[in-house]
Amino acid sequence: MIIIIINVLIITLICAYFLGKKMLQKKQIQESYDADLNYEWREILERKMSLYKILPDHLKEKLHGHINYFLKTKSFYGNEGLEITEEIKVTVAGDACLPVLMREDPIYPDFDNIFICPDVYTRTEHQRNGNVIDEVTRSSSGVSWLNGPLLLAWKYASYGSSNKSDGENVTLHEFAHKLDGENGVTNGLPILRSKKDYKEWQVIMTREYDNLCERVDRRANRVLDAYGTTSPAEFFAVATESFFEKSVKFKKSLPDLYELLANYYELDPAQWHLDYRERQRLKNKAKNQTSRILSDNIGLE
Ligand SMILES: [Zn+2]
Repeated sequence: MIIIIINVLIITLICAYFLGKKMLQKKQIQESYDADLNYEWREILERKMSLYKILPDHLKEKLHGHINYFLKTKSFYGNEGLEITEEIKVTVAGDACLPVLMREDPIYPDFDNIFICPDVYTRTEHQRNGNVIDEVTRSSSGVSWLNGPLLLAWKYASYGSSNKSDGENVTLHEFAHKLDGENGVTNGLPILRSKKDYKEWQVIMTREYDNLCERVDRRANRVLDAYGTTSPAEFFAVATESFFEKSVKFKKSLPDLYELLANYYELDPAQWHLDYRERQRLKNKAKNQTSRILSDNIGLE
């Protein structure tokens, strides 16, 4: 009888723990989306995150909520003596939250810790070469461990965030790996919304991966980084970088792949880039007209 009571008590405590955790998570989400992003953080986004400048206003509001939640739930650690500043945290959070902008559920729930190195992360790995184990030194600007932490080199994360059109953004790249790994394996196939999407994903991704390998062999590759030929997982990660940053060219050159990713991310960044260009054109036109009027009036005093 006592054993039964103890078992019931243990089960009740476990249920209470998970229920409490879920309620706390729900509260954190609500608070994050209700709160405005503070002025200092907005200023950092304006200054550091070039894709933020081109986001439509309603998506900026959504991004602010995600950033609040991300910074409440993720822990940052500086490697090699690097001091973690607000600038580092907000810049990384801004880019990291772009691929999950349209998600309502807790974002990136499978890991908590982000390590930031000042420059590339160098490590020694052991590789079997026949009967011999070789020591290989590798340097990376980012690493995403399956179900584990994520690491970024601040030098590259900062540069990647500051240029919105070169297709190089290590933060987008590593967080694409995190999305890819949500189903327990990193293979270029993330969790899709419905069963029918898997067939289309497989057909288009396989064809486009083969096409990239062929273009790289012919030295005729333009839109996607050649690093995408390494594996289907890297192909998905580099395609994500270009999807957000080289969007207009991407949509024109690789329309099927663009549409596939646009459906997956539920976003159309090519339109953000085009709208931004148009706003800049109108702004410059107005500026030129003002200076013409001013120069026409010189000498009237
Ligand atoms: Zn990668």
